[in-house]
Amino acid sequence: TQHNGHRDHAGYLDHIEITGARENNLKNISLRIPKRQLTVVTGVSGSGKSSLVFDTIAAEAQRQLNETFTTFVRNRLPRHGRPEVDTVDNLSAAIVVDQKRIVGNSRSTVGTITDTYALLRLLFSRVGMPYVGSSNAFSFNDPAGMCPECEGLGRKVTLDLAVFLDRTRSLNDGALLHPNFAVGGWYWKLYANSGLFDNDKALIDYTESEWQTLLYGTDAKVALEWAGGEIDSRYEGLVERFTRVYLKKDPGEMSDRNRAILERFVTPATCPTCHGARLNPAALGCTIDGRNIAELADLEVVDLIGVIAATSTVNAEPVVASLLERLGDLIDIGLGYLSLNRETSTLSGGEAQRIKTVRHLGSSLTEMIYIFDEPSIGLHPRDVIRLTGLLRRLRDKGNTVLVVEHDRDVIEIADHVVDIGPGAGADGGEVVYSGEVSGLAGAPTPTGTHLRRRMPIKAVFRTPTHSMPIEHATRHNLDDVGVDLPAGVFTVVTGVAGSGKSTLINEVFLAAHPDAIVIDQAAVGVSLRSTPATYTGMMDEIRKLFAKVNGVRPALFSGNSAGACPECQGLGIIYTDLAFMDGLKSTCERCAGSRFRPEVLEHRVRGRSIADVLRMRAAEAAEFFVEKRIQQIVQAMIDVGLDYLTLGQPMSTLSGGECQRIKLATELHKSGTVYVMDEPTTGLHMADVAHLLGIIDRLVDRGNSVIVIEHDLDVVKNADWVVDLGPEGGSAGGRVLFEGTPADLLGTAGSHTAAFLRQDLG
Ligand code: ADP
Ligand code: ADP
Ligand code: ZN
Ligand code: ZN
Repeated sequence: TQHNGHRDHAGYLDHIEITGARENNLKNISLRIPKRQLTVVTGVSGSGKSSLVFDTIAAEAQRQLNETFTTFVRNRLPRHGRPEVDTVDNLSAAIVVDQKRIVGNSRSTVGTITDTYALLRLLFSRVGMPYVGSSNAFSFNDPAGMCPECEGLGRKVTLDLAVFLDRTRSLNDGALLHPNFAVGGWYWKLYANSGLFDNDKALIDYTESEWQTLLYGTDAKVALEWAGGEIDSRYEGLVERFTRVYLKKDPGEMSDRNRAILERFVTPATCPTCHGARLNPAALGCTIDGRNIAELADLEVVDLIGVIAATSTVNAEPVVASLLERLGDLIDIGLGYLSLNRETSTLSGGEAQRIKTVRHLGSSLTEMIYIFDEPSIGLHPRDVIRLTGLLRRLRDKGNTVLVVEHDRDVIEIADHVVDIGPGAGADGGEVVYSGEVSGLAGAPTPTGTHLRRRMPIKAVFRTPTHSMPIEHATRHNLDDVGVDLPAGVFTVVTGVAGSGKSTLINEVFLAAHPDAIVIDQAAVGVSLRSTPATYTGMMDEIRKLFAKVNGVRPALFSGNSAGACPECQGLGIIYTDLAFMDGLKSTCERCAGSRFRPEVLEHRVRGRSIADVLRMRAAEAAEFFVEKRIQQIVQAMIDVGLDYLTLGQPMSTLSGGECQRIKLATELHKSGTVYVMDEPTTGLHMADVAHLLGIIDRLVDRGNSVIVIEHDLDVVKNADWVVDLGPEGGSAGGRVLFEGTPADLLGTAGSHTAAFLRQDLG
């Protein structure tokens, strides 16, 4: 029935019709995407996939939906500009399931966000012993259930007096070290003006009673001299005040500055009353088959599902059934190693996306468009296969599923593939293939070429110069792990999701090697004015060149100088902030997007103005500039595959993969450094991966060590050394299964990575 599902009553194919799409680099393209089918949009990095899927289809779906609301509602919704497209027909409501981390306070857990904890509470209220009644009595977010000591957080942070006070000093000398208690400030005066202390006496000389008063207070009221008058105030000890003002707030809701300051002055500890269980004694006293709800929430989902299935629950069958289904979804999507009490703020981007997917699988909505941005991130080939099953299930519920993806296994299950390209930036933006997967392998596009070709394991492995041992690593699921990471070579750390790769490298290894350089995909746009030119340091050289040739000051060519367009402050774009709405962006009319005053644009170098230069792509700049330093930086951009980027494109518009490569471009000249990369193939097409491998080889050939966490088998095949963790995720993982060359990995029994590598090599 599935294959007839996308025909309407008259037998016509039912499609989303896009005509004349021109966002970013899209070249006025028109295409149709079948509804109620699974479509994968692929193509090299920078080819225009996001411009089509997010900036055109998702944006237009949202805009059309908003148009259907009353003005009252519409004025309260974010306003979306109309995408650069002639028409998009036959849309339905779109939901974007992205990889943004789930930001939230410490009350948000895997259990609360997937509703599994609510089902568990319901189960306890029905069949827990002794009988309790309301399911709220098991909620750590409800006064009826929360531990009164920690208010349901499971943790208590306490003021670290050794850091907060310098006991060798007096109040007048600045004994209180927290910046908000500095001498002369409001909080300081509450103590110094209280009349209770000798302000010149070092704290170390205080009597026991003075010390107690300073920290824990007295019941006395004190008259404070204040601005010429006196106010009556209840005296509060330092500990009491600090706790009330700082520790009762959720750190998630503080400003970054206050949170950072706070972290220096407190020590976190498990709540002494509930021991981290978050609940009050009544809730913890209620059990099912001998276990309380906190103990169940502490189990990994793979273990919890067995306990629930074995529960005898005559009067709660529907609850048990829903719970088993939800837990099964979590396992299917490769998250069985998580426990329900895991705080969502500690999940990686890929884990967060999979959690969101599970929520949508539980929804009974149909006829939606679900859009996924590279859902294979963080997934081992073993887990990718499970993921594809869930994407199909979402489709089979009657939804249109659109996936931006490069992973071969995901492309291969698609009903329909749209290949954008052929190249990146101005060399891309066209539909180079649209149709069934079977036809793609024969298509003369980068995707088709790579689908046909299988890479062998490389022939020669480099010899390590020395080793960087990790001994007795015990963190999360790592249980006394020892591993020798080789230096001077390219090492890949593999293993299924949750096996402990990030813990081993990002936490244990990096803590011991603080000088290692982490190349991640996090955005680097520190200011709206950041561009590839400013980030790489090229802009300084370009400014000097313009100044020298024209006999003026270099600062004239700076985006934040007197030479900048006064209307847009050198941004070229006007951002309009609107209450309740997304800001609007428009090209500055005064400078027509050139960012500079007209008189600055008259200064030329070989006929080009500073604005012309910022509009050049790296490839053009390489031909234009003869100056050595500029040449080198431009060449580094080309070497990392960013020849298509213009020097002046705002960094805020770069994709994760592009940001990562800009970072690499600024590092290419170093040697003797350790580089750590976490899934650098994210956002990269198979053709881009080959390019990345070339960059890594150059880094290693220059005497650097590169350690990469990766699942992509082509990357594994090109490593000098592999460390495989597993065998499974969570407590069933955390062991080193293999250390050695990829050739030797092939024969390892019990390793999922080895099994998939054998399969890939045929
Ligand atoms: P993909 O998703 O295939 O990696 P994108 O659609 O993100 O590619 O980008 C296509 C091209 O458009 C790239 O060259 C990118 O740098 C450029 N681009 C993306 N967003 C913007 C923007 N807001 N302004 C200018 N150029 C952009
Ligand atoms: P991988 O990188 O191989 O996917 P991780 O190192 O992220 O695996 O996770 C290994 C184990 O440690 C998993 O069981 C995971 O749930 C657990 N873990 C990771 N981070 C945290 C954290 N911040 N708090 C608690 N457990 C964590
Ligand atoms: Zn507590
Ligand atoms: Zn302007």
